[in-house]
Amino acid sequence: MSRVYNFSAGPSMLPESVLKRAADEMLDYHGCGQSVMEMSHRSKIYGSIIEAAEADLRQIMGIPDNYKVLFLQGGASSQFAMVPLNLMNGSGKADYVITGQWAKKAFAEGSRYGEAKAVASSADKTFSYIPKLDPSTFTKDADYFHICMNNTIYGTKFHQLPETGDVPLVADFSSCILSEPVDVSKFGVIYAGAQKNCGPAGLTIVIIREDLIGKARDITPTMFNYQTHADNGSMFNTPPCYAIYIFGLVLQWIKDEIGGLDAMKARNEAKAAVLYDFLDNSKLFRGTVVKEDRSLMNAPFVTGDADMDAKFVKAAEAAGFVNLKGHRSVGGMRASIYNAMPMEGVEKLVAFMKDFEANA
Ligand SMILES: *Cc1c(COP(=O)(O)O)cnc(C)c1O
Repeated sequence: MSRVYNFSAGPSMLPESVLKRAADEMLDYHGCGQSVMEMSHRSKIYGSIIEAAEADLRQIMGIPDNYKVLFLQGGASSQFAMVPLNLMNGSGKADYVITGQWAKKAFAEGSRYGEAKAVASSADKTFSYIPKLDPSTFTKDADYFHICMNNTIYGTKFHQLPETGDVPLVADFSSCILSEPVDVSKFGVIYAGAQKNCGPAGLTIVIIREDLIGKARDITPTMFNYQTHADNGSMFNTPPCYAIYIFGLVLQWIKDEIGGLDAMKARNEAKAAVLYDFLDNSKLFRGTVVKEDRSLMNAPFVTGDADMDAKFVKAAEAAGFVNLKGHRSVGGMRASIYNAMPMEGVEKLVAFMKDFEANA
């Protein structure tokens, strides 16, 4: 069996040891005679799976006790609506930083429910940088301040958090959760779709400060109310059982094989350095993002010639480096090097790029 190196932005690679363990446990989970997919979510054995996943996430991220962890569905895209429905309940105002398509979509959804303000944008240069923020332009009585922490499509990341004072900071962590340590206490809400760094699509992780729960607008659908899920341990209805199980295995991999988020960060920095160093010295390829705002997870790059880009993507695919085509709004290439991408995958990709350059 030969596995490819998958540079997809999502769904993306999972650690091989996780896939092997899931395969081993597929037909008979721990001697219970059934797969995790088949068991009741209310059974004792499933209870041990979801509880371990939450406990491991809390431990790995250092989530304070006054935060709830919710395992939801609907993707990060549903959070674009859930956040305003639950939080835009005081002044009815919220600030957004527009750093790419996901931030734009979050802003559009927020605008449907209240007075959403775009305090800054990097649309002028195809979102190739993180705009400098001036706190004097922030809405003082906003109900929250929203950022997209890592911009999956454009390859930028907030390396410094906005100073929002008492206004809760809400952040879309879909493409960077668990990639490095984070001070959860700086945030009101962190949310992420699972399919980039956590497991299969279908699970959405929400980490929310308790005082932000219970203030949803009356019109909020029951399933869109954080309180519903907080009060029921994410078991108001059937949770995404199997995705939570795989997420639990990924968390065990981070704990036992990687050694936590400090080690994960070092590993991710080393991987990104190999790719960015090559891009900075290449005569054929160049990165599209300003250096100080580069993401550790998503690296867009171009040759400057669309035909050459297409030729490269095709040749790379044939050599076992798949999903390197860039997002249609940027063109060129994008290598997503999430947690599960081994260093070996990045080194082999760079060796392939060197070779391609030498023969171009
Ligand atoms: C992938 C992604 C989304 C969309 O996630 P869904 O789970 O498909 O709704 C939103 N935000 C960011 C930053 C993403 O990378």
